[in-house]
Amino acid sequence: MPYQMWINGAYTAGHSGKVIEVHNPATEEIVDTVPAGNAADVEDTVVAAQAAFPAWKKLPAGQKAEMLHEVAHKLTERTEEFARLLTLEGGKPLIENRDEMGWSAACFRYYAEIGRNTRGRVIPSVEESQLAMVLKEPYGVVAAIVPWNYPILLMAWKVAPALAAGNTVVLKPSEMTPLSTLLFAELFAHFPPGVINIISGYGSECGEPLILDPRVRVIAFTGSLATGQRIAQLVAPQMKKLHLELGGKDAFIVAEDANLDIAVPGVAWAALLNAGQVCTSTERVYVHESIAPTFIERITEYARGLRLGPGIEPDTDMGPIIGARYREKIEMQVAAAQSQGARILTGGRRPPHLERGYFYEPTVLTNVNHRMAIMSEETFGPTIPIMTYRSFDEAIALANDSKYGLGANLYTYDPLKAKRFFEEVEAGTLWINDPLTDNDAGPFGGFKMSGMGRELGEEGLDEFRETKHVHWDFEGGLKSWWYPYGNK
Ligand code: NAD
Repeated sequence: MPYQMWINGAYTAGHSGKVIEVHNPATEEIVDTVPAGNAADVEDTVVAAQAAFPAWKKLPAGQKAEMLHEVAHKLTERTEEFARLLTLEGGKPLIENRDEMGWSAACFRYYAEIGRNTRGRVIPSVEESQLAMVLKEPYGVVAAIVPWNYPILLMAWKVAPALAAGNTVVLKPSEMTPLSTLLFAELFAHFPPGVINIISGYGSECGEPLILDPRVRVIAFTGSLATGQRIAQLVAPQMKKLHLELGGKDAFIVAEDANLDIAVPGVAWAALLNAGQVCTSTERVYVHESIAPTFIERITEYARGLRLGPGIEPDTDMGPIIGARYREKIEMQVAAAQSQGARILTGGRRPPHLERGYFYEPTVLTNVNHRMAIMSEETFGPTIPIMTYRSFDEAIALANDSKYGLGANLYTYDPLKAKRFFEEVEAGTLWINDPLTDNDAGPFGGFKMSGMGRELGEEGLDEFRETKHVHWDFEGGLKSWWYPYGNK
């Protein structure tokens, strides 16, 4: 069966009669097509999600938890199938996509459990004859809009808590990687119709009608800063709940006591995982001047040794960039840096042996500064621009000199430096000696222009719950502070 949308518990090709071609970024060939959803499809999904909401809200949390566990179970069984499809549409090496499946299954299990364990709390009441409670309640229909770099994981981070909290969901994957998400409908088949719906389409034709629909109460969006800003502007008059996970320009500080046998592969991994197309990719490296020459020499050697190729081949270390215009952006930043005085130690070009596909060599640059776009704007590519620093004060100031604040990394075994780092660096996640590791229980999100709100952890569940304060007086008598009655 061709790929279809999943609306109200049934597959549909939608109303437009048009399709979107999905390309393999490693070969530029068409993998398959998906329906190009439009406003009429959005109407169908929102009607279905709204109709399903009252019963889903009331379903006991334990039963919701069982359904979420079943998703995790089915996903684990079908890891290989999903990993291959993700590699074909998104380009990541198979090994990385297997990891993505494992992390996604873990996220469904995590929210299955915390969703059934928390409903709010009882708080001290004003008087003895009273009960005061804080209740957490679902909003209603949630729009979950996801980018192409981690389609299943970032879907899981939104859909699992939204469903666990009792909301119903309309999910829209990126038009570049919709296949794995549409296939995922099979893993949701045991949910009541309308509780989870999946539509495919472009941001303008499908995403905008969805976010603008007044029946949609929450927008949970992961994507670029520009799209996040547009969404915020568009929905401002409606005052709906907005959760934005946007871009980053993560710094990595390597202190003088770092063990370079670990720090070199650690920084390289943080910068080059998924060809640098991770929201928390390391995009700026600050190395203490005393170890800089050795560090730079060794990381350049490391980057040179990586094998580029289609992710579907088992010996590939690094896959392609997702598309032509994304590679052009990287090329423009590198060329501009070079013209401003940067030195390219390796990379800085398309690999000559790969004629098809949007490949770009891992690129190490020195002589860079913060006036260059490569040190101030998100690159989203396999670049490692390196600056040296003298004092830790300087390193922290450099790390904070960014409009973004998603994550930051440090290698040190000096506890005083570690403490200063996590207290003074303005970022949502601070990794010390273990770059980029996610923890389902650890909230994830950005400071500054990297976004608003948090995914994962209890905070990630609360993004999908309204808070109610209930003040209940069992006796309900006259109160002494009611003027003038209290004086009688
Ligand atoms: P993008 O903003 O182009 O698209 C993201 C999603 O939004 C897609 O599904 C797209 O169809 C949809 N969209 C686009 N315009 C829309 C509109 N006007 N209304 C509604 N929906 C619209 O981003 P991308 O290129 O797919 O992803 C890369 C970006 O995502 C990078 O900037 C990266 O840093 C960011 N990202 C952030 C995180 C995080 O957790 N902070 C995680 C991964 C990726």
